Amino acid sequence: MRVKVSVIGCGYLGAVHAAAMASLGHEVVGVDVDEAKIAALRAGRPPFFEPGLADLLLGAQDKGSLDFTTDIADAAEARVHFVCVGTPQKPGEFAADVTYVDAAVDSLLPHLSPGAVVVGKSTVPVGTAARLAGLVQPSGAVLMWNPEFLREGHAVEDTLHPNRLVYGVPDGAAGETATAALDEVYAPMLAADTPRLVADYATAELVKTAANSFLATKISFINAMAELCEASGADVTMLADAIGMDDRIGRKFLNAGLGFGGGCLPKDIRAFMARAGELGADQAVAFLKEIDSINMRRRVRMVDIAREALGGSFIGKKVTILGAAFKPDSDDVRDSPALAVARLIGTQGGVVTVTDPEAVANASRAFPELTFVTDTTEALTGADAVLLLTEWKEYRDLDPAAVAGLVSGRVLVDGRNVLDPQQWRAAGWTYRALGRP
Ligand code: NAD
Repeated sequence: MRVKVSVIGCGYLGAVHAAAMASLGHEVVGVDVDEAKIAALRAGRPPFFEPGLADLLLGAQDKGSLDFTTDIADAAEARVHFVCVGTPQKPGEFAADVTYVDAAVDSLLPHLSPGAVVVGKSTVPVGTAARLAGLVQPSGAVLMWNPEFLREGHAVEDTLHPNRLVYGVPDGAAGETATAALDEVYAPMLAADTPRLVADYATAELVKTAANSFLATKISFINAMAELCEASGADVTMLADAIGMDDRIGRKFLNAGLGFGGGCLPKDIRAFMARAGELGADQAVAFLKEIDSINMRRRVRMVDIAREALGGSFIGKKVTILGAAFKPDSDDVRDSPALAVARLIGTQGGVVTVTDPEAVANASRAFPELTFVTDTTEALTGADAVLLLTEWKEYRDLDPAAVAGLVSGRVLVDGRNVLDPQQWRAAGWTYRALGRP
């Protein structure tokens, strides 16, 4: 059945969600306060790089089932309202800034009718849903929380084929109304046997922060092992392969390297620590402080390895950085480890050039003091050292002999452990990596 749906907040999460819901056959209006974003979306142009999103947008708009607006009043006719606005880290604090969520719900209140369902998808501190439910209730609408687990770079696939759906609902009839409404929206996914867990608000909110904390922990665990490998001469990639063969551990998320970044994991674990503190449970997640520290130490270590490989100083050395996005297949540069390394090397006297297949525009807006080029060949020409910091396929596929013909010095530091050391060394390169001899 076609459901009238609104999506408030059309960023990395909301734009994909809006297009995906339209592709399921629903009548969708996407709302954002950012006029440029809405203008791009209306024209069928994704305002950011995400594989498959352009086709999804065009397909849905051709069906006439997807529109975008800056006027929240246009959401009034929707029965299900998804809240997808940002919850960034507060400047100078660990806590999440939930003012965008509050503002979105506030702006929606005058347009809610009895029987409508407000579905929070943003990642929020536990307790947020219960607080907002009190604001929504007088309208006769019901609030539920449905955390989102999509990965940038795989957002379309993850939205349409999630591993699981989690509903956080109130007790009683209101919870049943909310569950039934969201089941109608997600009917094709439920028909494909996607597991669905119905929980209370707090559990649903915690599922998201707990999942991200676990993922961050797995990455920092292997990066802590990389530190030990560096101290002992062992090879962390083999170590990861060997421990990952144990089914109880698994090989996924055990790739040692420059660590995690982006608009989610770092701020989510910090917000979790802040919220746990407010609840008097700070000891429960005190380990996340160490997870964060291990992660941030990798950036410093990366700079140290590159400086060592260049003979002890960056001064006057041309350093080319491959990758600006926080991960491949995305143009998102929020808390990008690659850009953090670029800045550090710049402050130590290196002449840094950064390139990326998709993220140069965002990166140069965020770091106008750095030099960016879009063409990989131009970026590599004359380099004294090359640092692979975001593992885009086109960088993984680079031919060591061809790159050797462009650079001034054959020094390569593989920040993601994705290149074949033997192949690069055979072509005359000094190959260095994190956690490997
Ligand atoms: P984003 O910054 O890309 O998008 C947020 C959007 O909300 C922006 O376009 C902004 O203009 C808009 N907005 C802000 N206030 C608004 C208002 N009052 N009304 C309408 N629009 C408003 O952020 P994002 O990456 O899409 O993340 C959104 C939420 O989803 C966050 O809580 C994040 O933690 C969570 N999340 C993100 C991902 C991801 O991979 N990006 C995955 C899962 C969960």
